[in-house]
Amino acid sequence: MKQLKCPDCDASVDTMYEGNVVADVMQAMMPHYKEVHADVMQSATPEKHQAWMEDFNKAFNDAPELPEKTITCYVDGCEVSFTSGGRNTLLGEVYAHYMEVHPDVIPNASDEEKKAWMENFEKDWSAA
Ligand SMILES: [Zn+2]
Ligand SMILES: [Zn+2]
Repeated sequence: MKQLKCPDCDASVDTMYEGNVVADVMQAMMPHYKEVHADVMQSATPEKHQAWMEDFNKAFNDAPELPEKTITCYVDGCEVSFTSGGRNTLLGEVYAHYMEVHPDVIPNASDEEKKAWMENFEKDWSAA
């Protein structure tokens, strides 16, 4: 798995997109791109579009392969673990798992609890 930032945003964890092939990264980025950079898309000439695609492909090829990390579900007694090279991908999988298996946890969590959870996750992700 590789990770690329949105080429038209400053790098931040929220504008990093992940995938095993360039098409996956592109697909993951598309909703963001359509929302935030609609003007770029609309004003792009075919030449500009082509150059953008070439740059994006090159950035993907140059990006290092991410080492896989494993995080175990935080709910007491739940042993389900998640493995991925991409933080955002893994976070998405954890979220989907919570909504499916522990559906009352996230809607009932306070903002402080959510913040503490994310801090915990970031710490474990960095250490994994
Ligand atoms: Zn962007
Ligand atoms: Zn669980």
